[in-house]
Amino acid sequence: MSRIFSGIQPSGELHIGNYLGAVKNWVLLQHEFEAIYCIVDYHAITLKYDPAQLRVRRREMAIGLLSAGIDPSAAALFVQSQVPEHTELAWILNTVTPLGELERQTQFKEKSQRQESVNAGILNYPVLQAADILLYRADKVPVGEDQVQHLELSRVSSRRWNALFGRPTGRTTEDGAEEREAFFPEPEALLTPTRRIMGLDGQSKMSKSMGNTIGLLESTDAIWTKLRPAVTDPKRIRKTDPGTPEVCNIYHLHKGFSSPPTVEHVAHQCRTAGWGCLDCKKVLAESMEQELVPIRRRAAELAQDSQLVDDALETGAARCRVLARETMDAVRDRMGF
Ligand code: SF4
Repeated sequence: MSRIFSGIQPSGELHIGNYLGAVKNWVLLQHEFEAIYCIVDYHAITLKYDPAQLRVRRREMAIGLLSAGIDPSAAALFVQSQVPEHTELAWILNTVTPLGELERQTQFKEKSQRQESVNAGILNYPVLQAADILLYRADKVPVGEDQVQHLELSRVSSRRWNALFGRPTGRTTEDGAEEREAFFPEPEALLTPTRRIMGLDGQSKMSKSMGNTIGLLESTDAIWTKLRPAVTDPKRIRKTDPGTPEVCNIYHLHKGFSSPPTVEHVAHQCRTAGWGCLDCKKVLAESMEQELVPIRRRAAELAQDSQLVDDALETGAARCRVLARETMDAVRDRMGF
């Protein structure tokens, strides 16, 4: 069975962008693949943070993931810092990763433009991502389109390390060079089927830092308060104006939460000006309610029973420590340590 790895930052409570863009897909994939899901707290410290809040957010994220359907008996769910080999392998991969490749990363350019002083962790962030994936020798990585460039870097690091330290196979390559074992696989992208979820402002990706999110565990009333004024097709000014559902974020949220016949109905009503945007949002709110009420209930149970959360994370970490040690024993051996 192929192994998949994916990580999420401990940003606290999940929002519906994380849920539709990644986690809902993780829940499906956990039964199809050997799945490893990681709360990446080492990644979270590349930007300024409060240590006490980091613990709270890590726990909130674990509760969110478990209540959204990650099943610790099917997938290994754990916190990155509980398996220190992640940083050891990251250091090693730093020594084979070209600096130019890191400086070219779009996310590095974007993040560093927003900072007064840029730390090396922001530059090396994708190397730690490569280590996360390669530590478990994962074959596939569920990612959104904005992560494909980082994944390509993992493939570069894997190829470079294999070429330098993979054991000779005794064969020669087509161009006559000594062939070496592919100890690390070149992980492939498993593109998330849901397109990027935009924020309620319709301007940028849904993200906490932009303040344009709906939390996965927010109450019915709180969700409606946010949904009601959310941006729709800007050209649909009057109720009688036909709209273009494809340019409207509400339509894309319907695709995430509503049944296929409802999505079809939404598109028809929008194009023919058969209803107003508020009617459309009310139907969306009902679809969200159906999906989110059981998740909220489960989250409330988990918040009351911290042992259940601890046990789930420890079971995942114990499994990952074994895999990580196996990889690092082989890596150290091949590198002469
Ligand atoms: S009717 Fe629905 S899909 Fe169409 S613009 Fe309004 S909110 Fe968006």
